[in-house]
Amino acid sequence: MTVLVHDAAYAGWVFSENHPTQGRRFINAAQLISAQLGVRVLSPRSATRAELERVHTPEYVSEVMDTHVCGEWAGQRPDMSALAALFVGGTLTALDELFAQRTQVAVNLPGGKHHAHADHASGFCVFADLAIAASIATEQGHRVAILDIDAHHGDGTEALCSSMPNVLTFSVHQHGIFPGTGLADAPEVHAYNEPLPAQSGDVHLLGAVARFVEVSAAFAPSVMFIAAGADGHADDPLSALRYTEAGFHQAGAALRRAFPSTPMLVTGAGGYRPDDATPASWAHFVAGVSGLARE
Ligand SMILES: [Zn+2]
Repeated sequence: MTVLVHDAAYAGWVFSENHPTQGRRFINAAQLISAQLGVRVLSPRSATRAELERVHTPEYVSEVMDTHVCGEWAGQRPDMSALAALFVGGTLTALDELFAQRTQVAVNLPGGKHHAHADHASGFCVFADLAIAASIATEQGHRVAILDIDAHHGDGTEALCSSMPNVLTFSVHQHGIFPGTGLADAPEVHAYNEPLPAQSGDVHLLGAVARFVEVSAAFAPSVMFIAAGADGHADDPLSALRYTEAGFHQAGAALRRAFPSTPMLVTGAGGYRPDDATPASWAHFVAGVSGLARE
């Protein structure tokens, strides 16, 4: 049964009232996924300092966790720093479930903070949960393939994982928008990028997923992480991509078909239609990787 790591506190991830990132998307998506799949829900734990410092500098961790200051929000926000650490712990809770072989799909929607860097936050991302999870997984002998289908290049994940020999990163994103990187589509130390022009739709998403499947098959991952950003949806205000909910479902289903027994950790990354397209896209993707037929 699919595991959903979730907490009502996730709703508090609000930088400001009119900010594109609104935490209620996590609540809406959890309701939708639970109703569709009958998931097992687990509470997240908070990440430890040692876990955060696997990829972040101690100075940066202290700035966020002790002074509660961050480039992404105004003033001191202890509520936000606590949530940032909880999101990482949620991803690690999901990882534990996969490693204990209690499920093949573990979901932590506030994970996939793919723009966070070693010493600074960026693009609404504070701590790089997937890079931290990759560092733990590879230490345990795993080979990790990370697929990022968020509309924006997964620059932080790519940079932080580039020194990890048993991690492959693959980002498919809209060409030329924030953060402006990820332009090369030639592989560089297991770092693949597939930039797509504006107006690209499901067929392009599925083509990129097929290419990811191809390079991953050769890489032979023992675990897969996915940043299933929903901001490539046609209705999302932060990209000009044209993915549909059916496309998200097919992308998830294609991964599961290609890797029927590989444990998959699914995170939500971006998504800026908190009441409709974002939760719906996530639910369709999760249903796809969970092997459920589209309703
Ligand atoms: Zn994004």
